[in-house]
Amino acid sequence: MIRPDIIDLLRVKPGKKFRLKDHNPGWKQSEEFEELGKDALKERAKAILDTNLADLAEAQGRLYADGRYAVLIVLQAMDAAGKDGTIKHVMSGVNPQGCQVSSFKKPSAEELAHDFLWRYVKALPERGRIGIFNRSYYEDVLVVKVHPELLGRQLPPGAEKPGKKFWEARYEDIVAFERHLARNGTVILKFFLNLSKGEQKRRFLERLDRPEKNWKFSASDLAERTHWDAYMDAYEDALAATSTDEAPWYVVPADHKWVTRAVVADVVTTAIRGLDPRYPDVTDEDRKRLAAARAQLAAEE
Ligand code: AMP
Ligand code: MG
Repeated sequence: MIRPDIIDLLRVKPGKKFRLKDHNPGWKQSEEFEELGKDALKERAKAILDTNLADLAEAQGRLYADGRYAVLIVLQAMDAAGKDGTIKHVMSGVNPQGCQVSSFKKPSAEELAHDFLWRYVKALPERGRIGIFNRSYYEDVLVVKVHPELLGRQLPPGAEKPGKKFWEARYEDIVAFERHLARNGTVILKFFLNLSKGEQKRRFLERLDRPEKNWKFSASDLAERTHWDAYMDAYEDALAATSTDEAPWYVVPADHKWVTRAVVADVVTTAIRGLDPRYPDVTDEDRKRLAAARAQLAAEE
């Protein structure tokens, strides 16, 4: 487990000043780990991750049986920050029946013809399930803010180009949307995987150098990297405006993959446990029915 006071430091506090530069992408738990050799660190990390996954599997089992709450996990990050790996890791611990992943790419013409939340609403998890959004409606205030031409007909009639008011309206709509979901039994957890620009370069080079990783590299990744500062500004504004008690943002250190995975699994497990999901009660009436069924089966030839 990551210490609860550290998890608390990663959470963006509603109404408080928020600066990305106060968050260290290279953080890795404690000095105690610095002294470990590479192999010992790997082993230690694996032990932490294994415990995490066992805890998560147990929590998910209860969530599914209880059937009152849904969990929505939102993952946002720059390219190569480890979203896919985090999903793979977190999912490896849970029953696939109670889980779904939705990845959002460039919207289609049909999606663009609707309001910006439409396509995401259709992918929301139902009660008892965990839904992971690999990118989300936050792209509509991130990549779209960096490249406003992507708005197309989503710009209100008469508006020349989107200004401060336009983005503030979107933040407001997102907060209202998440409040609505929370009131209807969806627990929302949002993670920004905070990768440093230096580590992104290292990972891009690895994708270029290792043939089995080539497929992960796309030329547009480099183009987006040139807009790094604009993205960081967009993230800072979006996280500050939309981190609420019902739907908090966590800024997760992403330069060390095992830290990212441990933090996400930890926050999700803690949140599900906080709901205290239970296996449904068996009433006296149920017990009678079960006894009758047992007798019937036993009486078979
Ligand atoms: P990847 O997740 O690396 O496969 O890339 C998906 C691409 O789709 C990224 O370049 C995103 O910026 C882009 N994308 C996702 N959502 C939107 C959106 N709402 N509008 C425009 N582009 C988007
Ligand atoms: Mg990509």
